[in-house]
Amino acid sequence: MQSISMPGQRGATRRQPATTASTPALKLASVRPLLDAPIGMMRAHAEWAGDEVVIERIALLADDPAADALRVEYDHDDERYAIIVPILRTPQHLGGKRPWFGCPRCLRRCATLFRPRGEPAPACRRCMGLVYEAQLGREHRLRRAQRIVRECETQLRRSRLRAATRRRLGARRNAARLEIAEIHARIVASVARLAAG
Ligand SMILES: [Zn+2]
Repeated sequence: MQSISMPGQRGATRRQPATTASTPALKLASVRPLLDAPIGMMRAHAEWAGDEVVIERIALLADDPAADALRVEYDHDDERYAIIVPILRTPQHLGGKRPWFGCPRCLRRCATLFRPRGEPAPACRRCMGLVYEAQLGREHRLRRAQRIVRECETQLRRSRLRAATRRRLGARRNAARLEIAEIHARIVASVARLAAG
């Protein structure tokens, strides 16, 4: 039997919320040699979320050679796990079939299986509740825009107070109005940025 080794995809320190980039993952591309070889001819070794993992391809149904799966075996917290990951195939535009992992939890097609450290069984991004880095970027921009709007509103309230005082004094009324209009315009611009996010 041939054997291929895959480097463990070590994640960075976990922060909140967990992202796909910071969670130890098994990518479909890394097991392609296993999927292309006949069943039982190859075995893959990987380090996944700190555990040594052995991956083998097995036949799910004896009378259907297309019904195959990966058997992912490892020790975690002194327990032996053997997870079956079905391989799903979709027809390709130019012929042939494209393989996917079937998420062991929801059976959806996916190209990456995640197993956060401490988590015994792998699952897809959705089941693990992970977000993409890009999504995180959008949330960050949104929070920043919201902060700008809050700051502008605070300034507006202060200006109105000052304007009220000026009105009472009867001086520089127009200047105060202009200041308020300007701050108002900044709030509108911030809200527009927020919406465009
Ligand atoms: Zn899933």
